[in-house]
Amino acid sequence: MTHKHRIETNRCKGCGLCVTVCPKNVLELSDQVNVKGYFPAYQARPEDCIYCTMCCIMCPDVAITITKESKKAAQPQDA
Ligand code: SF4
Ligand code: SF4
Repeated sequence: MTHKHRIETNRCKGCGLCVTVCPKNVLELSDQVNVKGYFPAYQARPEDCIYCTMCCIMCPDVAITITKESKKAAQPQDA
């Protein structure tokens, strides 16, 4: 099972709450604005992410999602 961490950049208002709450210091604010004119959060050090979901819980704009993905392809059913 692998995890995928995704930030919807254009939902982000650059409040920085996720950056502050991350226990692994993974997140930073970008120096490039999004469509709303905010500096959005991004994973500056994705290799350090432990998928604790703190950033997802904290984000007031629900801009961050973590999904689990199975590496294995679905097995065919027995006939
Ligand atoms: S899931 Fe946890 S470790 Fe990963 S970026 Fe969010 S707060 Fe940081
Ligand atoms: S908490 Fe949400 S809105 Fe605030 S900077 Fe992080 S992703 Fe953007």
